[in-house]
Amino acid sequence: MNGRTRVVVVGAGFGGLATAKGLEDAPVDVTIVDRHNFHTFQPLLYQVATSGLNPADVAYPVRGIFQRQANVRFRRAGVTAVDWDAGTLALSQGEDIPFDRLVVSAGATVNDFGIPGVAEHGFPLYVLPDAVRLRNHILGRFEAADADPSVVDDGGLTFVVVGGGPTGVEVAGALAELIEKVLDRDFRGSRVDVRRAHVVLVEMVDSLLPPFHPSSQHHARTTLMRRGVEVRTGTSVAEVTGTRVRLEGGDEIPCHTLVWAAGVKAVPLAAALDAPTGPGGRVSVEPDLRLPGHPEAFVIGDMAAIDDGEGGLLPGVAQVAMQGGHHVADLITREAVGEGDVHEPFRYRDKGSMATIGRRAAVAELPGGLRLSGTPAWISWLGLHLLYLMGFRNRVSVFVNWAWNYLTWDRGARLILGSGEGDTSLPGEDEDDEAQTSA
Ligand SMILES: Cc1cc2nc3c(=O)[nH]c(=O)nc-3n(C[C@H](O)[C@H](O)[C@H](O)COP(=O)(O)OP(=O)(O)OC[C@H]3O[C@@H](n4cnc5c(N)ncnc54)[C@H](O)[C@@H]3O)c2cc1C
Repeated sequence: MNGRTRVVVVGAGFGGLATAKGLEDAPVDVTIVDRHNFHTFQPLLYQVATSGLNPADVAYPVRGIFQRQANVRFRRAGVTAVDWDAGTLALSQGEDIPFDRLVVSAGATVNDFGIPGVAEHGFPLYVLPDAVRLRNHILGRFEAADADPSVVDDGGLTFVVVGGGPTGVEVAGALAELIEKVLDRDFRGSRVDVRRAHVVLVEMVDSLLPPFHPSSQHHARTTLMRRGVEVRTGTSVAEVTGTRVRLEGGDEIPCHTLVWAAGVKAVPLAAALDAPTGPGGRVSVEPDLRLPGHPEAFVIGDMAAIDDGEGGLLPGVAQVAMQGGHHVADLITREAVGEGDVHEPFRYRDKGSMATIGRRAAVAELPGGLRLSGTPAWISWLGLHLLYLMGFRNRVSVFVNWAWNYLTWDRGARLILGSGEGDTSLPGEDEDDEAQTSA
């Protein structure tokens, strides 16, 4: 040991990366632990799932991100437990890691709310393998319908997306566009009539994009409907099988694809922290983001239940995670240079919200009450996502893909990976992923 503070950051997501980068000039040694060796830009996963982008466009190797930051090391492993007395983390592979300061930013995973069949038959969209699996499945449905057109009568080309938040709206819009503009041309002259494909968006409350202004909600709904999506609000899913979705009230939709974008909860590691939890299993934290009873540990990002000062919790969005990361990096730095215990509370600055619906259609709500919709919102959305994407190569690749898609309606990434009908796994998928995504 060299006397420098040992900081362990769990998770190379938005929160973890912001923390490690914020510690660049601090007299500390940082170890990032993640079960994946890459950072995933979750806001663009839906474009991988709908063949707009390649998986490598939205992910970046963690070791590559920190090549030039001398005080950062990386360990690829799943964190399974914390020994608070010993000050160590137990990992799924290799030796335990000791820490003086611990920052946990391990994110969220799918919440099926115990609805029968969702875990077995639903397609979540949380990690990169989810997006590839969904892409394989969507494209596979069209190939199956070409092989046997009768499956269309059984719902083979009906795609039900559950959840009217930004992810559900984005998936439904992109799917409708993929079907109408790309697959319709791909399958011209084949045995399958692509125009019989159908996208249904199901949302439990009465409006789409619940946190947005009613005018943005209206814009999202009318745009989706104009693009052929059937929007069913005020209804929820009661049960799912491999070929049917049953709604509360008894309606049944024949369907072979259910995209589950309806709920999230903290990853299983939250329970292992042995701390009080709030809604969705998110870990309750002190105002300075420390773990109650463990001043040496912080929890940030989607995993943390952070009071928004108005009786609610801050949303699970990238800005909350990044700003939380900057905050704890600042506290740790100040303590490391001898300022003593620093307990400054975290203050979140809301920079607004955006959701895209498809080509030249989005909604954006910015601080100061400024609201945009249509093409201006879409261009802002494109620019902001390019800006926050990790790595110059990825930005160039995404920009070129988007420009190409825009000019030609072509989506080059419509590949079915895997060898057979039942094989939808991504090569390299490991047990940690399974545990995290299916929990
Ligand atoms: C499909 C989708 C679309 C989204 N779109 C937007 C958007 O448009 N705008 C927006 O602001 N936000 C969006 N979000 C939310 C945003 O991505 C999250 O708020 C943000 O990623 C949270 O950052 P985080 O650091 O808390 O967790 P994450 O970024 O999820 O990172 C968590 C990391 O922890 C790792 N991990 C988990 N468990 C373990 C373990 N036990 N051991 C080791 N490593 C572990 C994971 O592999 C992962 O790398 C979207 C999310 C999804 C899923």
